[in-house]
Amino acid sequence: MGSANGRKSIFITGAASGMGRETAKLFHEKGWFVGAFDQNLEGLTTLEAEIGAGNCLIRRLDVTDKKDYEKALAEFGAATGGKMDILFNNAGIGAGGFFDEMAFEDVLKVVNVNFIGVLNGIHSAMPLLKATPNAMCFTTSSSSATYGMPGIAVYSATKHAVKGLTEALSIEFRRYGVRAADVLPGLIDTPILPPGAAANAPKDGMFRAIPPVEVAKVVWEAYGSDKLHWYVPPELAELDKAAGNMPELVREQIATTGPIAALLKAAEDAKAG
Ligand code: NAD
Repeated sequence: MGSANGRKSIFITGAASGMGRETAKLFHEKGWFVGAFDQNLEGLTTLEAEIGAGNCLIRRLDVTDKKDYEKALAEFGAATGGKMDILFNNAGIGAGGFFDEMAFEDVLKVVNVNFIGVLNGIHSAMPLLKATPNAMCFTTSSSSATYGMPGIAVYSATKHAVKGLTEALSIEFRRYGVRAADVLPGLIDTPILPPGAAANAPKDGMFRAIPPVEVAKVVWEAYGSDKLHWYVPPELAELDKAAGNMPELVREQIATTGPIAALLKAAEDAKAG
């Protein structure tokens, strides 16, 4: 297990895979000490082999378990001298389906990981963030926080919750000099996607498949900035504006064009027999 030895430090959840893993590698390249946390210890172990045991602290953590989250933070704090420059609350799951057809346990699981997990993290990490000048609390929201997305309604609702929480905390935490910001990624090519989703994505446009390192670069850029919402790709900001200004038009477009419309039509056809 490494220790920061005066280096800046980032605490990352969901670090075994996808954008969390890319962020761990990028911050390591920049000379930071990395706390890498995930349910998937095997993935964390290969990450540790890549970036070197002296440069990171890896630990199994289920973000829904607040008591264990507190223990993970205590171990991280012991390795960094009580500091944390960035909390990157990024772990998430993407279970979907039509809301009424989802098992209710799955509905609650999405809420627990994607939102309660974020609350657990921010609430418990405050002492470390407050003790660190210019600290930042950064959370992974989603493009599905622009307009509520059918097929992933609960997932989308948790990501709206993350965005709203971030906006409010970015004001509340001013009294400590702690920033809060989030990232709204579009379609990022990671294992969270259903098989074939990246390969079948449009080749251009805001829902093209994007490599996860692009999100890692945004986390890096965000640390040097006071910007609140980061869109990957940046054009997604336009969708957010449109959803705010013309929600009925955006609703109609989502319902009648693209993959969601195809999903709805397939469900109608299946019902019609
Ligand atoms: P990923 O599946 O590659 O990584 C997610 C990681 O979270 C995994 O390593 C998984 O083990 C971990 N995890 C899941 N539940 C956990 C728990 N209870 N405790 C601790 N770790 C847990 O997927 P990703 O795309 O890198 O996802 C990262 C974040 O990005 C998620 O919050 C996801 O919702 C969000 N996101 C992804 C996309 C996309 O297109 N890939 C788009 C928008 C937002």
